[in-house]
Amino acid sequence: MKTPRHATGALTALILLLVSAAPAHASGAGAPEKRGVIVSLTFDDGDATHVLAARMLQERGMRGTFYVNSATLGDERKLTRRQLAAIAKAGHEIGGHTLDHTRLTELTPERQREQICEDRRALLAMGHRVTTLAYPFGAVDTDAMRTARQCGYTAARTVGGLRLWDCPACPAAETLPPRNPFRVRTPGSVRDTTVLRQLKQQVYNAEKGGGGLLPLVLHRVCDDCGVYSTSPEVLGDFLDWLATRKSRGTTVKPFAAAFDPAVRPVPPVP
Ligand SMILES: [Zn+2]
Repeated sequence: MKTPRHATGALTALILLLVSAAPAHASGAGAPEKRGVIVSLTFDDGDATHVLAARMLQERGMRGTFYVNSATLGDERKLTRRQLAAIAKAGHEIGGHTLDHTRLTELTPERQREQICEDRRALLAMGHRVTTLAYPFGAVDTDAMRTARQCGYTAARTVGGLRLWDCPACPAAETLPPRNPFRVRTPGSVRDTTVLRQLKQQVYNAEKGGGGLLPLVLHRVCDDCGVYSTSPEVLGDFLDWLATRKSRGTTVKPFAAAFDPAVRPVPPVP
């Protein structure tokens, strides 16, 4: 029986649809795999201005990661436990940043263990799903990486290693999955002098470089409040622009979204 012409047309359209929907790597040998960029906006140190930062992300349907020092919660200019709970409840990731922001590379493994494990234990006890760590000052060595793993972390973020003015030859994005989940690279910290154009450029570079994970390191969100701060206006403009990159495969996700979601327990103190 002869197939009616309109049915043939529909079949052709269906085939075209299936072909266009197929992942790039399935479209033939040698075709480059088109991968997106995951931008993770990470905010360090549990600063009180992160209440505003979290709200700004939420208003745009985005979620970020907040790295806190559990022993300083409630201190002056820091988030309270209640504020942190509200940020977590809104769907943001809460991560560890050691008990009191100590430089791990200057500690013995025993002290490292206390700073990393006890911080994570405290955050878990507050009810947070803590699976990733940010090393204070980005300072990390092989002992710190081992300790982070022993304390039950799935991944940890340092500072630096990705492309920025201080490292033009560095890769534009971290690999996915990261080549070393306990030393995930970032561009250097966002500063008060960082302008919107520079933030966009980091994303453009990652998109052009074939995608991957682009964790950005931010601190306070306020005007004229230190070197490691970002004005709410710059952050807002950047978030608005990031939302438009979805069509290019660029999405904003918490850092932990790039890793195994299982929450491991902190081992008992030996
Ligand atoms: Zn810090």
